[in-house]
Amino acid sequence: MIPLWIKTFDTEKIAPLHEADGAYFLELFHGATIAFKDMALSILPHLMTTAAKKNNVKNEIVILTATSGDTGKAAMAGFADVPGTKIIVFYPKHGVSPIQEKQMVTQKGANTYVVGITGNFDDAQTAVKKMFNDHELAAELDQAGFQFSSANSINIGRLVPQIVYYVYAYASLVRDGRIKDGQEVVPTGNFGNILAAYYAKQMGLPIHKLICASNENRVLYDFFRTGTYDRKRDFILTTSPSMDILISSNLERLIYRLTGENAEKCAELMKSLSEGGEYTITDEMKAQLVDFYGNFCSEDETAQAISDIYKNSNYVIDTHTAVAAGVYKKYVSETADHLPTVIASTASPYKFTRSVMEALGEEHKDLDDFGLVDALSALSGVPVPRAVEEIRTAPVLHDRVVDAVDMPAAVKDILKIK
Ligand SMILES: *Cc1c(COP(=O)(O)O)cnc(C)c1O
Repeated sequence: MIPLWIKTFDTEKIAPLHEADGAYFLELFHGATIAFKDMALSILPHLMTTAAKKNNVKNEIVILTATSGDTGKAAMAGFADVPGTKIIVFYPKHGVSPIQEKQMVTQKGANTYVVGITGNFDDAQTAVKKMFNDHELAAELDQAGFQFSSANSINIGRLVPQIVYYVYAYASLVRDGRIKDGQEVVPTGNFGNILAAYYAKQMGLPIHKLICASNENRVLYDFFRTGTYDRKRDFILTTSPSMDILISSNLERLIYRLTGENAEKCAELMKSLSEGGEYTITDEMKAQLVDFYGNFCSEDETAQAISDIYKNSNYVIDTHTAVAAGVYKKYVSETADHLPTVIASTASPYKFTRSVMEALGEEHKDLDDFGLVDALSALSGVPVPRAVEEIRTAPVLHDRVVDAVDMPAAVKDILKIK
């Protein structure tokens, strides 16, 4: 029998731990899109269809997603050929990288639909939100046996699997004799993962501090330091684009905890964020943030972390993982705390090849993205991941392009609703 993991991951270990430069890197990038969202999005469809069954939902679930490049592909890979579901992804035709577009338009699965739009990501996102709130459309769908759902990051089904891999990482370290059972560790990573680690700590996992890493978009670092969340600042484009945020939707979950699970108080703070661009938590709430340590890496520090870890340990990490590795270094030098860390390795270096190669001093301006992938493989000795190899030669299966205003018509056409 073919083992189940082969369908989704390129290693039987699924989330291997790699020790390098005094840290444990939890590699969460062995799935279909070589980034950590695959971990949750390969489970979410099954959680969703099970929940639908339990709630006697008879309709087929249609996932609608607007994507700036990454989430859409990860969601499609997760929902492809899952019975009782269809997934329709809209992306800005001229707003994603060549490799991202190739990843999407080669997506297999009889229930997957990819539509390019002649507009930007905001146009796609706005039109999708409008469709979610269109009662007439919902009624038409219902009559045809369909209903909409979403796969974006506010879905708790995205967060729950992330708790699981922290427990797995800890148990693996104990099993391999790298830590003693009961010894505390300090997870380091992007906020979404750190929030999952916080839940794991509350469930009893031996965790000391939670180290939250930001890039130059340091809104969370400032929040942990001052207690004020202020999104009124410039949006900086960095080499770790998936961490370029001014509004963290998961932070609301932590704020809810800090208010003593007071939904009204939490809603008040969120309202002041959406209306005035900022909020400040009380001293009492701030006192509960002692378990969190926030810091950030500049662009230079991020590149330096990639280069240092390669020089010291012959291990190549991606830019997002490097932000975490750099912040862990700052934590150690500021606190002199040498507890072992588990760093969330959120993307494969093959996903951000150009920035990684530049950090290693290998520019190769003459090479295209796939050529650069081969150069990285030659340098690192790590084989090119299956996910990249596959799209290199895969046939294009989706070529639909519409104007943003015609998105509802495209949905109806795909679902064969008149
Ligand atoms: C999506 C993504 C992030 C951000 O995740 P959050 O859960 O919003 O913190 C960080 N890094 C990578 C590589 C991502 O794909």
